[in-house]
Amino acid sequence: PFDVLVVGGGPAGASAAIYAARKGIRTGIVAERFGGQVMDTLSIENFISVKKTDGPKFAASLEEHVKEYDIDVMNLQRAKKLEKKELFELELENGAVLKGKTIILSTGARWRNIGVPGEEEFKNKGVAYCPHCDGPLFAGKDVAVIGGGNSGVEAAIDLAGVVNHVTVLEYNSELKADSVLQDRLRSLPNATIITNARTQEITGTEKVNGISYLDLQTGNLNHIELAGVFVQIGLVPNTDWLGDLVERTQHGEIVIDQRGATNVPGVFGAGDCTNIPYKQIIISMGSGATASLSAFDHLIRSKVP
Ligand code: FAD
Repeated sequence: PFDVLVVGGGPAGASAAIYAARKGIRTGIVAERFGGQVMDTLSIENFISVKKTDGPKFAASLEEHVKEYDIDVMNLQRAKKLEKKELFELELENGAVLKGKTIILSTGARWRNIGVPGEEEFKNKGVAYCPHCDGPLFAGKDVAVIGGGNSGVEAAIDLAGVVNHVTVLEYNSELKADSVLQDRLRSLPNATIITNARTQEITGTEKVNGISYLDLQTGNLNHIELAGVFVQIGLVPNTDWLGDLVERTQHGEIVIDQRGATNVPGVFGAGDCTNIPYKQIIISMGSGATASLSAFDHLIRSKVP
């Protein structure tokens, strides 16, 4: 069996695996797609000490670093079930069953898509999901944020400090964000809120040039010219496959403590699939290291054979 079996090969999983392998213990990593969300990222400018890189390059160096160690990398393999028997048993979609004394869950998350024409076509060409990451790309330009919940309104406040103008489009008749956030947003001179707005299409040619929405009150189809659209309608953790074994929040995030431990002794969580605040590469990597050190600590204290 593996001493540490990591599920997920994004920044959190790679970091967890390297930290484990450096302890000289048997380490494996199962990944549906090594690199994770980073593979979909155009430009990364906030991974401290690397001024600027792009996603695929970053993912390649993650993989290179992992390969420096004696780590069993099982790429293009999807985990479908985790059970606790004498050891933990991880069943893969291909039928194989892997055993681990400890498990680190780092299966990440994905942004919920709005699913309108133009979204897929203009991803990374004006359609963005992460204001911390991509906000500065729209400095001095006009952008929209789709979604008036906490993440949408936070994004809009954040963006308002960087862009020329930000429009928040909310489907419902009012914003759902906390009222302090709403008040803050309303106090900004370069932010507009449009409610009862159903996004119909993100328009553009080579890149985004606007957004069309249906005004649900008047039935009019309106168009706004802008350079960027931030979709902020939720982040979905890749945790459904876990069933009830580990505790998850109502949003599906794995509940971990400061040490990365879940409610099941020997099972740890790291990165975007957990309830840690802020979903970023640097944070995921730190959380992978934490989970791994905790797994090691668990191993040296436990009576697992
Ligand atoms: P992920 O990167 O999501 O990795 C999850 C891993 O688990 C993947 O290998 C996946 O294939 C695997 N997996 C999922 N389910 C299973 C399963 N059932 N079985 C096996 N494997 C599974 N952050 C920044 O700091 N800076 C940026 O500039 C930035 N830009 C971004 C741009 C975009 C378009 C996106 C989408 C995100 C961006 N982020 C950025 C966020 C950053 O990518 C994430 O915070 C980070 O990748 C999270 O790492 P993770 O390892 O927790 O999860």
